[in-house]
Amino acid sequence: PAGLDKQFADELNSSQRAAATAPDGYNLILAGPGSGKTRVITFRVGFLIARGVPADSILLATFTRRAAREMVGRLGELVGNQAGRVWAGTFHHVGNRLLRGAAKDLGFQSNFTILDSEDQTDLLRLAMDDAGLVDKSKLAPKASQLQHLISFAINTRRPLAAVVESEAADQAEWLPEIEKVADAYARRKLASNCMDYDDLLTQWLRLLDEFPNRLEEQGRMFRHILIDEMQDTNALQIEIVEKIAAAGRGNLTAVGDDAQSIYRFRGANYDNILKFPDRHLDARVFRLEVNYRSTPQIVAFTEASIAHNQSGFPKQLVSARNDGPLPVVVATADVYEEAALVCQQILEAHDQDVPLGRMAVLYRNHYDSVVLQGELLARNIPYTVRSGVRFFEQAHVKDVMAFLRVVLNPRDEASWRRLFVLLPGVGPAKAGAVYQRIASEADPLKALATAETMAIVPSKSRGLFAAFVNDLNLIRATDPEHHPARAIEAVLKGGYPGTIRQKYDKADNRIKDVEQFAVLAAKYDSLERLLAELLLAGDVYGMDAAGSEDPQDVLVLSTVHQAKGLEWSHVFVVRLVDEGFPHRRAMDEPGGEDEERRIFYVAVSRAMNELMLSYPSTISRGGYGPTVFSTPSRFLTEIRHDLYERVVLEHEFDRLNADDDDDEGEPPWTGRPLKSQPDRDSKT
Ligand code: ATP
Ligand code: MG
Repeated sequence: PAGLDKQFADELNSSQRAAATAPDGYNLILAGPGSGKTRVITFRVGFLIARGVPADSILLATFTRRAAREMVGRLGELVGNQAGRVWAGTFHHVGNRLLRGAAKDLGFQSNFTILDSEDQTDLLRLAMDDAGLVDKSKLAPKASQLQHLISFAINTRRPLAAVVESEAADQAEWLPEIEKVADAYARRKLASNCMDYDDLLTQWLRLLDEFPNRLEEQGRMFRHILIDEMQDTNALQIEIVEKIAAAGRGNLTAVGDDAQSIYRFRGANYDNILKFPDRHLDARVFRLEVNYRSTPQIVAFTEASIAHNQSGFPKQLVSARNDGPLPVVVATADVYEEAALVCQQILEAHDQDVPLGRMAVLYRNHYDSVVLQGELLARNIPYTVRSGVRFFEQAHVKDVMAFLRVVLNPRDEASWRRLFVLLPGVGPAKAGAVYQRIASEADPLKALATAETMAIVPSKSRGLFAAFVNDLNLIRATDPEHHPARAIEAVLKGGYPGTIRQKYDKADNRIKDVEQFAVLAAKYDSLERLLAELLLAGDVYGMDAAGSEDPQDVLVLSTVHQAKGLEWSHVFVVRLVDEGFPHRRAMDEPGGEDEERRIFYVAVSRAMNELMLSYPSTISRGGYGPTVFSTPSRFLTEIRHDLYERVVLEHEFDRLNADDDDDEGEPPWTGRPLKSQPDRDSKT
């Protein structure tokens, strides 16, 4: 179509166009940040559809749901309605969809529940009991650590023994027990018809390995596979796509940047992208060398940083933009002053007509944002946090989900137990006993009301228990499978709000949350889809709150990990102290410094126009802990001084320049002064 041709001509440069319109087969696009990789892969999907490839035979794997939504939106501008029919989403999301139709082959039912990481830990504790490994023993590995080891082995496709050896050598003596726990855990998931996030991939792969007809089916189904952010895929994901591509048409387009690989702790390996040409000797490799995102000053700074890495594939990157200001580095007295500075700079930029939504504050660790959030609240700057506890991870939201889940999947042991312990006088042991009692019944819900079950419940709680059973029946009567919002309203009408008041603080807010949950649910006509959607909203990598869009024009606060692939006009990277960013723990691991530098690289390469990097000169450990001097991050000090401007705070400026006799050899404080507070006479 002519319109599309014009867009290809106007919106892509010639190397981008070559990549987007590459012939069928194996194609790799390896290029730096801001070079248009995501744009190219989106256009390629449009190109394929325009050439007659059915939209629903295209698999577009993205790193987050948000990224998938954005790409599909963009694609809509190219090809219209068909965009919505592309299989776009994270690997976990696509796995979930496929497994619903194939669960029976694997011994699951199609209404299996997805466990989030807290549910997973709970189930793992039970598995530890099964295997006789006690969490409480000082020496034994903790449930959360086992969870990590088991998951890491799965995602890297390595034997558990090897992973324990390399990642937790001090636990090696427990290996036989750890293996037993892993088996017991797998059995428990199967028995309760639950899958954890990893299962959405492992069971998918099992399907391809053990059922030749499924492999053939998916090979036929996905005529083209495209992967964005390939550098952060793990061995399991690669095996899945390579299998499907090989069984089908062998059309695989991979896009990524090894220098932006930052999920090693989840088993990601940038060799997946660097070895692509070795796996496919006929692969075409495309390079994109023009950065459209950032000013030459920001590109020079970011490239100077990544050049300090020991490993990495060398790439060219030239900015297509006009000159802008140098990146600014500021030291503040402490974390409070840093927060004040960032807020003030944001307000000043906002006064210059930069919308809040085009600015972001990025940090290495979620807790680095707490002081800043206080200052933002104090100054009435609206913001959204893309890290930390997500909506559905809050206890009360999970309780409500448990109500829905047991109605949908009555074998969901973890949810039953969660509900039982809400009752006074019922602890984990009693909850387990009640579950055992009903588990084998054809209709566990009905079995709840029997005298035999009642006998297990402590006598003083029987009244409440009967009311609880009644609530469940009322919830079931709303036909929750098709009307999830009605089911949540039924939860609100029952005894649960009373439980909230008894068990939790801020009860009113929590009840409002549940009401909002019902509002959200009203958009869905399938409970199964609502639950899967919520649990996959951010999947294993965190990200967006429960299905909700970001409010318009608010400042974004985010960990660097969750800022991947995104861009803002003004970016503030805070807490750049050694031991914070780079993270202290990472520095003890082989390759850890390089990984941390890649994280820094991702952070600074998000900026389009202005980049401010700050660090507090002193840090106190905890609210009342001793205050110690901090060392600026090596990621700042290692960069050539002419690539950034050292700027000081207004009230420091005079002092620093007055006593310049002391700082022999130190570069002089020539930077402009910055304000951290509003003018006294200003009206705001
Ligand atoms: P990252 O590695 O950070 O994910 P990327 O390589 O995926 O970056 P994109 O996000 O696709 O880069 O593009 C970066 C910015 O440059 C976007 O704002 C995009 O719209 C713009 N852009 C890309 N190509 C062009 C082009 N040919 N002309 C103008 N703008 C472009
Ligand atoms: Mg991208």
